[in-house]
Amino acid sequence: MRQSELFTKTLKEIPKDEKSKNAELLIRAGFIYKEMAGVYSYLPLGLRVLNKINNIISEEMNAIGGQEIFMTCLQNPEIWQKTERWSDEIVDNWFKTRLKNDIELGLGFTHEEAVTSIMKNHVKSYKDLPCYVYQIQTKFRNELRPKSGIMRCREFLMKDLYSFSRTQDEHNNFYEKSKEAYMKIFTRLGLGEKTYLTFASGGVFSKYSHEFQTLSDAGEDLIYVDKNKKIAINKEVYSEEILTELGLEKNNLIEEKAIEVGNIFSLGKKYSEPLGLKYLDEEGKQQSVIMGSYGIGPGRVMGAIVEVNCDDKGMIWPKEIAPYQIHLISLAKTIEEKERTEEIYQKLLSLGQEVLFDDRENLSAGQKFADSDLIGIPLKYIVSTKTLAEESIEIKERKTGETKIIKIADLK
Ligand code: ATP
Ligand code: MG
Repeated sequence: MRQSELFTKTLKEIPKDEKSKNAELLIRAGFIYKEMAGVYSYLPLGLRVLNKINNIISEEMNAIGGQEIFMTCLQNPEIWQKTERWSDEIVDNWFKTRLKNDIELGLGFTHEEAVTSIMKNHVKSYKDLPCYVYQIQTKFRNELRPKSGIMRCREFLMKDLYSFSRTQDEHNNFYEKSKEAYMKIFTRLGLGEKTYLTFASGGVFSKYSHEFQTLSDAGEDLIYVDKNKKIAINKEVYSEEILTELGLEKNNLIEEKAIEVGNIFSLGKKYSEPLGLKYLDEEGKQQSVIMGSYGIGPGRVMGAIVEVNCDDKGMIWPKEIAPYQIHLISLAKTIEEKERTEEIYQKLLSLGQEVLFDDRENLSAGQKFADSDLIGIPLKYIVSTKTLAEESIEIKERKTGETKIIKIADLK
């Protein structure tokens, strides 16, 4: 991509009401646009990052048997009435709308009801189970105070997987597998070290749920972390009882702020019973399906990655999800130098590299470097009169500032 053709520019100003670091940097670097509080659009560079996050999540969900679907945002009140989740007294963050004939609809804030209805058409016998379906799709939540940039939005993407099992054992087995898949995802996203499996409140059908919490001062949650055992407890369930149950010592725990990047829930028959999702077991008896739900917010993950990987100059993207791997910065002056820089760009493309090529005219080296630091691509490839005279390129790492010189002929 030629930066001269990229329609987004880096910006000096950010919206006055924007308080969060992730949104500030992403807006200034032209990755996102703030439509209103808690509502953001993704622009080319931001969308590339988001798609890479989604791909990693999809790969790991496919690897544990997830089948991808795409459900509607518009929700039929009837099914939500059956599970007693239609009322605004019970669910306080519904967005609701109306058809022309005045019938009310909801904009999905989650999809347990919808997916359970779909499965009723397809699950009849024990032979049809277990099965796992997921989507990466838009959710709407009328959040009271969206103050964490793209980490708490009123419209946001969620990867939500739902598991359908015959027995509690079968469910538990998948639940454990999902924990491993989640840790793989966060490791691939560069958040592995800072992300803790965290015990949280479980609702009616299991004692605990599990959250994946990434340590950061930008987080809205408080958790108690055992760094050696790599496990944490959310403040909301912290007690002597849980310490004993998990074999943790109070003295080994540190209180930390953290971002909930994902969570997994055992749902039992909470949705299958009221909605009538049943199967015939091997003895011909009707049984309700045992369910689980497994969420990750790709946008929140992206915000979390910015929060934990930035410095006073800008963002520092991990390689796996950087919008581009190489920021080729042209400081060429003469026509001949520009042509040679263009050849380097073409060569990198032919080598299959993802390159953002800063071919913009009339900008100082300082301005180009400042923009590059803000955007946060892992490697700068700097081409100048000096490097060209030596048939070389200067490579500078965004994260460490380390530089090295390589010969153009040695590019690979
Ligand atoms: P929180 O406790 O932060 O309000 P939640 O427990 O309601 O989130 P879930 O309903 O389980 O979250 O959603 C699954 C995942 O979706 C969360 O772990 C988070 O990554 C993401 N998510 C939830 N709410 C938002 C939001 N308002 N904006 C962006 N991502 C969100
Ligand atoms: Mg939560």
